[in-house]
Amino acid sequence: MTEAHRCRSCCATIGEVVLDLGEQPASDYFPPAADPGPDPSYPLQMWLCAACGLAQLLVDPTVPEEPRATEPAALVDQAADAVGRVAAAGWLPAGGRAAEYGSPHGGSWLDLLAERGLTVVGDGAEADVVLDCFGLMHSPDQAAALAERAARVAPGGVLLLQFHSLGTIVRLGQWNSLRHGHYAYYSTAALGRMLASAGFAARQAWRFDLYGGTILLAATRAEDGAPGPDTSVTALEAEEAALGVEDPARVRRLQDSTVSRAEALHRWLVDQRAGGARVLGYGAASRAVALLCRAGVDRTLLPAVADASPAKQGRRMPATDIPVVAPGELVAARPDAVALFLPDLLPELRATLPEVEADGARWVDVEALGATPV
Ligand SMILES: [Zn+2]
Repeated sequence: MTEAHRCRSCCATIGEVVLDLGEQPASDYFPPAADPGPDPSYPLQMWLCAACGLAQLLVDPTVPEEPRATEPAALVDQAADAVGRVAAAGWLPAGGRAAEYGSPHGGSWLDLLAERGLTVVGDGAEADVVLDCFGLMHSPDQAAALAERAARVAPGGVLLLQFHSLGTIVRLGQWNSLRHGHYAYYSTAALGRMLASAGFAARQAWRFDLYGGTILLAATRAEDGAPGPDTSVTALEAEEAALGVEDPARVRRLQDSTVSRAEALHRWLVDQRAGGARVLGYGAASRAVALLCRAGVDRTLLPAVADASPAKQGRRMPATDIPVVAPGELVAARPDAVALFLPDLLPELRATLPEVEADGARWVDVEALGATPV
């Protein structure tokens, strides 16, 4: 019997595994194409805390690799949208100080905040606006990471937290959002409890389409005498509660989704090949790694996955023999269809790779194949 897992936020040991993807390669380890493997793999499981409701990575024996991804236009566009909405709501005081905890995946708001008249402060300094943009989930110790951010908020200041919501993951069956290096998967209610432990309270929430549903939460120190959460927060909590984000039985449906979506992808690729259609992939992201592994896809079904990141080209998808190629090679191959692993990229790809559709190919959202929304 191994030692019980302690919640990364509240330290409780009561909870259960709600999603078990078995042994998976590290999602950011792209071996050179000539490396025959086998690639090292590690257990990948989501645990749901019965005390505070935080969904989290059970163990992470992997070592983070250097980020290799390029920053998608969708992330840049969403940042501008979010800053506009937060400013309109009065949360960005002119002349105030701003600090950011960013993500290794990009999407910094600092330039946008500077344009709004805020002064960006450095590591550790107090700020009137402390922003975490997909950063917090990368910390193994969630309580310590949130406390660090909260401590930097100046009296009367605001803490802004942006996250891909567990409600979205459950609603859309996004089981392949689970990956090594991402330690927490927040519902609005669970994050609210974490904030309360840090002496903060959620005040306002905004929702964005990014990743199928991204939430931005504004929180202030409870002692600042805030009026409490507005309806944007309570409505979101009610919606997520109805989805069952704190009910292990409901979250465990993600396990069923692993089977249905993997089978659907495999079947679709087999059907395409049988019909003589040539399919290539786009988006060498962690979500694609998990899905291709689960679906048992190799290069006979998917001869290549294109990606704009030069650091991934010349490598292969982990635990498969599928090479990662430059977008130009995808265009030159004139496929009949392109399996898109990152649906947020579609508008950008239509604009930057118009040849794909001009040559008669179609973009196919693999997230939608076999999805069983609840
Ligand atoms: Zn907990």
